[in-house]
Amino acid sequence: MQTMIVVIRPHTPAEQVEEVIREIALLGYTPNPIRGDYQTVVAAVGDETTHANLESLDALPQVERVIRVQKRYKMTSRESRPQGTVIDAGGVSIGGHHFVLMAGPCSVESEEQLLSTARAVKAAGASILRGGAYKPRTSPYEFQGLGPEGLRLLVAARQETGLRIITEVLSERDVETVAESADILQIGARNAQNFQLLIACAKSGKPVLLKRGMSMRIEEWLLAAEYLLAHGNPNVILCERGIRTFENYTRNTLDLAAVAIAKQESHLPVIVDPSQGCGRADLVKVLCRGAAAVGADGLIIEVHPNPAEALSDGQQQLDLRSFADLVEGLRPFVSAAGRKL
Ligand code: PEP
Ligand code: MN
Repeated sequence: MQTMIVVIRPHTPAEQVEEVIREIALLGYTPNPIRGDYQTVVAAVGDETTHANLESLDALPQVERVIRVQKRYKMTSRESRPQGTVIDAGGVSIGGHHFVLMAGPCSVESEEQLLSTARAVKAAGASILRGGAYKPRTSPYEFQGLGPEGLRLLVAARQETGLRIITEVLSERDVETVAESADILQIGARNAQNFQLLIACAKSGKPVLLKRGMSMRIEEWLLAAEYLLAHGNPNVILCERGIRTFENYTRNTLDLAAVAIAKQESHLPVIVDPSQGCGRADLVKVLCRGAAAVGADGLIIEVHPNPAEALSDGQQQLDLRSFADLVEGLRPFVSAAGRKL
């Protein structure tokens, strides 16, 4: 049950107040009027999941405003699960006291590229291998990913290293194929409000990592997560990856406040992608430290054996050595945040 507060304009004649009260009842809510000397407010109690919400009452001239008391995201909200969610991604725990490291190339390019990266990131401490087989590229002339062959290479890398794998699913059409290979489905920033894709991913039964869209408000991001939960998938990981602002020293503006807010507002694990988040390899290390400090549950970092030859996002990928150094330097920050890497 939810409560909405309907504020009626001061000095509204009694019969127009009654009209609002009747309308509230008609919409399936129980009206509880609180009558002041010259102004009435009505607390309306009802179930928003089965009845229209009351925001449309704003259309009545005697209604001053309609105020929502509860959050629009119900299953995603921290209130629904104060203790926080720990997700099991093929045996790797995400959330709780764990700090998870996902790392790997922006795109899966070849067997050699993927396997050498997988071995190196595992040796450095990562437990999940990232790599795009289907790539959302701004230009149709840019590398679009290896598709099914990329998935095959990811599976081979898992077989050899034991790393779990995360990869992006671009289209509803590919959900089944990608879910057969991946341990975690990644929904990219460009698709974060593709609600049909969200529903299809929810139904796959695989854990889903939901990037924040580059122009999404935190509430919209949490409501996108709500789609996944409402469609039966409790295993959702939020991922902040930077938003578009006026700033152009960075590719995106990594919003670490959003990470802290998402942790307060939601019980879901929140991880940070500093690579898309700033688009600059030279900033990734310090942003990882910042992410750990604000309470992130882990990181997803782009790593390539030779960034200068990468088929996508070369400018923001770390080479194997820099990644290993980054992890060593990160350990004290992760412990200081009360997490275990
Ligand atoms: C990526 O992870 O390579 C990617 C395309 O991310 P985003 O959807 O955040 O842009
Ligand atoms: Mn990328």
